[in-house]
Formats: sequence, C-alpha cells, structure tokens
Amino acid sequence: VVAEAAELKAHPLWARLGERRHAFFPHPSKPTRQAAVLIPVPFGTAPGTRELVIEAASGAEAQRISFVVVRGTYPTLPIRIPKRIAEPSAEEKARAARERAEILAIQAEPASDRLWNNAFQDPVPGIVTCGFGATRKFNGVTQSVHKGIDLRAATGTPVHAPAAGTVRLAKELFYGGNLVYLDHGFGLFTSYAHLSRLEVAVGQSVKPGQLLGLSGATGRVNAPHLHWGASIEGVEVDPRELKRWTALLVGETRPSSRTTHRGASH
Ligand SMILES: [Zn+2]
Repeated sequence: VVAEAAELKAHPLWARLGERRHAFFPHPSKPTRQAAVLIPVPFGTAPGTRELVIEAASGAEAQRISFVVVRGTYPTLPIRIPKRIAEPSAEEKARAARERAEILAIQAEPASDRLWNNAFQDPVPGIVTCGFGATRKFNGVTQSVHKGIDLRAATGTPVHAPAAGTVRLAKELFYGGNLVYLDHGFGLFTSYAHLSRLEVAVGQSVKPGQLLGLSGATGRVNAPHLHWGASIEGVEVDPRELKRWTALLVGETRPSSRTTHRGASH
C-alpha cells in the first residue's frame, strides 16, 4: 500500500490487519513525499474479505481498504532424508528450539530504517525446485509446510545478497545448516540456508549483489540447494512475492517502464 505522507518520523502511519500493525516506511523512489508498507498475509489464512485499516499515530483512522483472500493451491512433496535427521534426538530438538528463539529475538528488534533501495534479486540463478507453501512428507510422514523456496544450486555456487541489509546471524544451525540472516529494516528479513561456506559476519552491512557465502548441503537436507526465506514482522512470505512487490515499488519512477520498445521487423 502506498500513501501520500511526508515526515514519517514525526507523523508515523500504520496499516492494521487484524491483530497486526505494520509501520509505513519512506517510499523507495519518492521518500520525501510518499510512504509504503508491505502487508504479509499469513499462510493458512481462511479465504474471504478482509479489511486493512490505515491509521495515523494519533489513532485517527485515515482509510479502510477491503481486499479478498483467495485459496491458493500448494503441492505435497514426498522427501527422503536419513532417519537420524528426520527424527532428531531430544538434545537436537532442544538445540533447534534455542535457535528458533534466537531468530525470534532478532525479529523483535529490526533495523528502524528501510535499508533496501532496489528491487530484490535472486541470490542464485537456479530454478525453484520446491516452492513456498509445499507440504513436505518426510519419509512418508507429513512434517512441515515449506515456508521459503528452494533454488537449485550445486555446492559451491556463490550466494548473493538480493538487496542491501545488515547481517544479523551467520552461523551453523541444526535445521538450516550454515545460515545467513539479513535484516532489511522495518521488520523485513531474509535467510539463506544450507551454505557450505559463510563469507559474512554478524553486524556487517551488505550491498545488493554482495557475496554472502557458497551454497551447500549443511543442516536438514537431502541434496545441495539454497533455501531462501523471507519474513515481514514474523510472517513468512514467498521471496518471489517480495521480488515482485519491491520491483513494483522501485520501478514506478523508472523512465524505462514508461517507454515501450518495439522490434522494427515485426
Ligand atoms: Zn527449503
């Protein structure tokens, strides 16, 4: 959602969807005049009409926007993985829970600036081998819904930052293996899992296209690939949607988008 709004610091603007409240950030291409907000709709939301309420910090309601949530179709994929990984021990489960808590603590303290300026780009050139929302049956047992996308990448493929951000985590986790967790500001985070090598450290600022690490097969995987995750204020979203919406926001004033190039021969 884009709104006319100047001086957000003095006059914050919020979009409320149910229990969740999202802060508007300075628009990437018109930061002094407009504000924008990316609204995540959680996976599993029941289809139907929803209402977004735009409100100023004073509590004054500015606008109500109705939209319709439609049912998506998501595949079920059988995946074979070694039993020792499919059935973690109590100790491993405790470790995974501690690591999950660590991620939640980071999400609770996002950068307060919009750190990204460009449309998000693919971290590796590979095709999507497992999409967002796929239900995975590990060794015949339904275990989880895939809250990210898997991109085909042979071990050693360079993994690049899709946009500017700050490294908030760069270490080995039980499920994710070697993982980089990027903070892009205003509650937007992305993650890069199963890396064979980490090339960044916590606290480091990264530019779009900067090398984060090399892809691999660490953590809970059956083959090398890059797992790319994204979340907005704790709600996991499809990174491909992030690419689409950031491109839309950034592209609005791009002169090339107004120019139509047609081939002369047809
Ligand atoms: Zn994955």
